Amino acid sequence: MEPDATIYDELGVPTVINAAGTKTRIGGSRIRPEAAEAMRDAANSFARISDLQARASELIRECTNAEAGYVASGAAAAMVLAAAACIARDDLGAMHRLPHTDGVADEVVMARTHRTGYDHALRAAGATIVDVGTNDRYLGTGATNVEPWEITDAITEETAAVAYVQKEYTEPALETVCERAHEFDVPVIVDAAAELPPKRNLTRFVEAGADLIVFSGGKAIRGPQSTGILAGRADLVESAALQHLDMHASEPVWDPPADLIDVGRFDGVPRQGIGRSLKVGKEELAGLIVALKAFVDEDHDGLRSEWSERIERLAERASTLDDVTHAVTGGGKVSVAPELELSIDRAAGVSAADLVRRLRREDPRIFVGADAVSEGTLSINPMCLTDEEGRYVLDRLEANL
Ligand SMILES: *Cc1c(COP(=O)(O)O)cnc(C)c1O
Repeated sequence: MEPDATIYDELGVPTVINAAGTKTRIGGSRIRPEAAEAMRDAANSFARISDLQARASELIRECTNAEAGYVASGAAAAMVLAAAACIARDDLGAMHRLPHTDGVADEVVMARTHRTGYDHALRAAGATIVDVGTNDRYLGTGATNVEPWEITDAITEETAAVAYVQKEYTEPALETVCERAHEFDVPVIVDAAAELPPKRNLTRFVEAGADLIVFSGGKAIRGPQSTGILAGRADLVESAALQHLDMHASEPVWDPPADLIDVGRFDGVPRQGIGRSLKVGKEELAGLIVALKAFVDEDHDGLRSEWSERIERLAERASTLDDVTHAVTGGGKVSVAPELELSIDRAAGVSAADLVRRLRREDPRIFVGADAVSEGTLSINPMCLTDEEGRYVLDRLEANL
């Protein structure tokens, strides 16, 4: 198979065959055709961005059972807005000063084991992260990484929020963290960027008590790459909107949708806020709305079987490779799709890292999962792959062995 010519060929940029899953650095996911069409149509006429945000809010509310929703230019952008909302609340002066936080509570408490590279987004809004707990889980002493009392202990007058990164392995339970935070009226922000599917997760974190939840619009939802969803408390979403929407508005005619912003609560129009650099256009908003609807209507069990069957077919092909041991893993606790793991035997004379590098240098570039490359293993994720591309990936792997 020779992959079909793409727009990237036309632009003189190598196309990527994506066997690594929904990774932003290689373009995330394939946008749904209906979302791409919505973007093209949206580009041809105008709508008020705040009206589109209000429509998105209504849909996010229906899908998540949260009080309100909002769209920013990625899940990371939604995290900036979440932190900004928790720090500034309805204080126009504080909104104006962010990321400088003199005079307002700006600490975000989180378990040390929840820290990720993405928490830079919280800090970008002006938050100082106060991390608690240890990494004791792996000492084999029976201790956990963070005891609920440690979260309570870290909450002070300076606390703006508690942040939680949702993964199957994170602890303590989100419910417990929310209870602890709410005793002090402190909101909880949940990074659930990649936790869809299952669809059930759309409502799960709201039910657990979270105040603001972040999902990526460009991963399994398959909306525009530069979208992220913020779902949560109406007052906090309102603050996020005030700090994100273009605010070059004249006060006498400032009339944002009442569902999104209650102008009566504010002493005037805020300035362009910290979120202004995270803007989404009418195209992204239209695309995300259409994609989220399609995601909710999608048969996820069917999709999972499709992924499993694809991986099984690729596993058969992998069994014909010399010096490669394969296993089908995942699909359970830590990942949303099953994957094909390929362990490269020493006898191959080439390391897994060499293979990953070589495949990436081909034209088209081939990206396989490389998280366990230092253990001699690479992986094939079915989410962004067709059967034909999957076979091509294994053909090229064989050719490079
Ligand atoms: C992907 C991801 C993000 C960022 O999502 P974007 O939509 O690309 O901004 C944040 N947190 C986690 C845990 C993620 O997996």
